[in-house]
Amino acid sequence: MDYGRIFSNAVQQLHEERRYRIFTELERHLGAFPKATNHSRDGAPDVTVWCSNDYLCMGQHPVVTDAMKEAVDRMGAGAGGTRNISGTHHAIVGLEKELADLHGTESALVLTSGFVANEAAISTIARFLPGCVIFSDELNHASMIAGIRHSGAEKKIFRHNDVDHLRELLQETDPDLPKLIIFESVYSMDGDIAPLAKFCDLAEEFGAMTYLDEVHAVGMYGPTGAGVAERDQVMDRIDVIQGTLAKAFGVIGGYIAASSDLVDTVRSYAPGFIFTTALPPGIAAAALASIRHLRTSNVEREKQQERAAELKARLAAVGLPVMPSNTHIVPVLVGDPALCKQATDMLLDDYGIYIQPINYPTVPRGTERLRITPGPGHDNRMMDHLVDSLLKVWDRLELDLVPAANAAE
Ligand code: PLP
Repeated sequence: MDYGRIFSNAVQQLHEERRYRIFTELERHLGAFPKATNHSRDGAPDVTVWCSNDYLCMGQHPVVTDAMKEAVDRMGAGAGGTRNISGTHHAIVGLEKELADLHGTESALVLTSGFVANEAAISTIARFLPGCVIFSDELNHASMIAGIRHSGAEKKIFRHNDVDHLRELLQETDPDLPKLIIFESVYSMDGDIAPLAKFCDLAEEFGAMTYLDEVHAVGMYGPTGAGVAERDQVMDRIDVIQGTLAKAFGVIGGYIAASSDLVDTVRSYAPGFIFTTALPPGIAAAALASIRHLRTSNVEREKQQERAAELKARLAAVGLPVMPSNTHIVPVLVGDPALCKQATDMLLDDYGIYIQPINYPTVPRGTERLRITPGPGHDNRMMDHLVDSLLKVWDRLELDLVPAANAAE
């Protein structure tokens, strides 16, 4: 057996489909984000990052970095074990209490990432519901799909954010079977928001549980940054809220917030929680500081929303095909994987702008795009440079502009 050839063929296939990914090696500049040094290629050595999920620059906020440093100085670098074997430290327990309080739930559980939280929680919850049927939005993230697969439960996929289709699927399902409806609030590739209240209405009508991924919304929406469910005043109608500490909160880690018994079930049965070392105290302390800061400060959220609206308006005004989005995400349609990659290479090499191409399978073929995430640190001068550079790239690649009137408002 030629094992080597199997793997080289696997990689070759990605090259042929123009889906081979090259990572950009950056060194972010503390205090000067979105500026970073590019270590990965011959192009511009200093770049402006326009695609970070550290949406509010909290990863660089002194409140967060100081909390991390103080915790490391006091408690050391690592957690020292799984939660069962000496890894349940004071900082992580404090973080869980804060998260439960943030979401108004009885309890919360921190896992090593948002991915792990989804995989572990969904697979465990569904396993305890005999004959469970899972209703999942067609655009749900890979981590939720992994959890659903791992649960072994029957699944029914409803069209993206389609309340009527979800109703049809619920109607045709045996009323006596347990049901779990799984959806996100902010879909991060299109920047649209799920109709949470309508999904909750259906769940109540058909006796289903609700599981909401707020990964791209926590810290960003709601008066205290608890997410879209807080903004839409439906937090108490959702059975399980899942989030990340890695995006708007700027650190790393994932969690679920729910009733004590549900959280205790995941804590006690999910291998993805049990058999892995806990997040270290420095991480927990930094995440806690970030959450607390964003519970009382709206400055970062408001600035970010203002920056996103400004960028959308500027792109639309010059006819760049900004896709409709009512959130902080600004997608710009290219519609071809090779051109999408070429555009981002040019932006990086010739204009010092780092934006990652978003290609299949992350988005459907033909909808390849640039996904731009403006943050509080992107000033008008940077925006001028971005819009100007995009126009030059569009011209060089002979990409279509759209009439300004048809662009997103
Ligand atoms: N859920 C969604 C919707 C995501 O986009 C992501 C992506 O990163 C995750 C979960 C995973 O979160 P984390 O990065 O914390 O693992």
